[in-house]
Amino acid sequence: MSRYADFYRQSIDQRDAFWAEQAQLIDWQTPHQQVCDYSNPPFAKWFVGGTTNLCHNAVDRHLAGRATQPALVAISTETDTERSYTFAELHAEVQRMAAVLKALGVKKGDRVLIYMPMIAEAAFAMLACVRIGALHSVVFGGFAAGSLASRIEDAEPVAVVSADAGSRNGKVVPYKPLLDEAIALSKHKPSAVLLVNRGLAPMHLQPGRDHDWASLREQHLDTVVPCEWVESTHPSYTLYTSGTTGKPKGVQRDTGGYAVALAASMKHIFDAGPRAGDSAAPLSDSDGPGTRETRGAGVFFATSDIGWVVGHSYIVYGPLIAGMTTIMYEGLPTRPDAGVWWSIVEKYQVTHMFSAPTAVRVLKKQDPAYLAQYNVKSLKALWLAGEPLDEPTAQWISHALQVPIIDNYWQTETGWPILTLANGVEPQTTRFGSPGKAMYGYDVKLIDESTGQELTGPDQKGVVAIEGPLPPGCMQTVWRDDARFVNTYWKSIPGRLIYSTFDWGIRDADGYHFILGRTDDVINVAGHRLGTREIEESISAHPNIAEVAVVGIADALKGQVAIAFAVARDASALVDDAARLRLEGEVMKQVDGLLGAVARPARVYFVTVLPKTRSGKLLRRALQAVAERRDPGDLTTMEDPAALQQVKELVGE
Ligand code: AMP
Repeated sequence: MSRYADFYRQSIDQRDAFWAEQAQLIDWQTPHQQVCDYSNPPFAKWFVGGTTNLCHNAVDRHLAGRATQPALVAISTETDTERSYTFAELHAEVQRMAAVLKALGVKKGDRVLIYMPMIAEAAFAMLACVRIGALHSVVFGGFAAGSLASRIEDAEPVAVVSADAGSRNGKVVPYKPLLDEAIALSKHKPSAVLLVNRGLAPMHLQPGRDHDWASLREQHLDTVVPCEWVESTHPSYTLYTSGTTGKPKGVQRDTGGYAVALAASMKHIFDAGPRAGDSAAPLSDSDGPGTRETRGAGVFFATSDIGWVVGHSYIVYGPLIAGMTTIMYEGLPTRPDAGVWWSIVEKYQVTHMFSAPTAVRVLKKQDPAYLAQYNVKSLKALWLAGEPLDEPTAQWISHALQVPIIDNYWQTETGWPILTLANGVEPQTTRFGSPGKAMYGYDVKLIDESTGQELTGPDQKGVVAIEGPLPPGCMQTVWRDDARFVNTYWKSIPGRLIYSTFDWGIRDADGYHFILGRTDDVINVAGHRLGTREIEESISAHPNIAEVAVVGIADALKGQVAIAFAVARDASALVDDAARLRLEGEVMKQVDGLLGAVARPARVYFVTVLPKTRSGKLLRRALQAVAERRDPGDLTTMEDPAALQQVKELVGE
């Protein structure tokens, strides 16, 4: 048996012993009494009785040995700034933020909503929350007032941390007006709003509610805020993600299990972090120039955003837990030019880079000479995730960088990879098109959707499912909705309680998996998961839309894009092309305003009838097939055959 196969088997067959050993990778205030309590499936409790703190493990723990090593480097090509914080400086900033949050009334167990651009203060805020036992709920800065309002209502935060503005492609994107609008829309009103003023957009501070970070920070420059030791099962955060219904789910994560899972993934999957002999050796002045970045445990550069799960796990917590320097980047991969990421790799001697296939496809369209200008030899590998990695893209970047390109498949719900290669355990060869093998701790099964039977042979297509308990680090439940957690994730396969990923997959004879798309109505645009129902609801809110169907169709750059087919209430709005374009523009604006531009459909086509079954069920798959110019399959249940004909004509068969 190969080393990895053995490691994997141990994780499943001797689960508790395996994870007890991994638990030693982090610091505990009190050790656990039980590794896994699975007495109430599918709810798993990890490291029961143990107490720890995520911020301690990410920051304080490193003060003894790496206080002067850079911990966080925040680079913005939007504002042309670079700010670097050593572990000691990060520790000080996080305490200041924690002191301010406490002064604003935030206590253990309270929620703090973070709606911020990619600036260092966003990481301070996350770390400050978990330091005091408060739960953060980060909302992606690209989301608009409607999305933000529904998350504020669900999380009921005591405080919101935000900023005057973000910036995209050199254009200032004000956040404060959107936040004000969201709070006005929400039934729940946070009592305090803390604002970082970057000097990008004017802000009106509402007296009594809104506070300026810079002035409160001044008041707490030296306030000591010790870490609050919390139960391993104490929730550290919630993060909203889309599903099949219009209402986003708050994925809730614990503290101890998450810290252990990330520490283990840094070691076994990313082959990173302190090794024997490098145990947080202090850097001295005699180390000379250039050694500060390289002498540490390595430099991790994840190009995602703190609003997504990759940002939580591999911009903030994972690299810091491993004692690495982490890079936060605000900006595009192509501005000022397509060499910008590689210039960062060269300058900071990045050892680990994590991005998404769409970003690579964007770069692939640019002149390859940009890449050749920089020395990227410090890189050990490039990890890509969030959406299927197509072979030409993988080949191109592999050739250009000359390092392993490692696909990894996971979800907001799991917090760390389900399928990839654990090169820290045993180096394995990449198979293009496959994210790799089941990761330790995940009892991955392929299940026949209709019978619930496990498919054990090679190359059989089934639903990718995970037998409980989910390993440490995965979601505990849906925030304040245990029933939704059970019913959504664990009851979709007939006759058995098993976690569904809602992805189709196959596995070859060597254990490499291939992901074949979603089993539900969720789509993936440039690595961002979007619920088609959510987009439909926002379009239906337009006064002249009677009915709408949104489907995802293949796109060469973004993987998928959303396309809407809508029925207008008043057909006179569609008399000519100009009128149709006007309504299409209005619908797009409507989505921008309610959900954010990230959810905007690429096209809105107007039809007089949507394809439905006789019982009134929307024939989404048929609609999607026709929109992708594929055969729609069996249409005997369709009520009005003319419906698809219209679609065919519109998409230009
Ligand atoms: P999210 O929770 O937003 O990260 O979306 C998770 C979903 O993205 C998965 O259920 C898959 O549908 C898709 N996904 C993520 N990573 C990959 C990958 N490496 N290959 C194929 N699909 C992926």
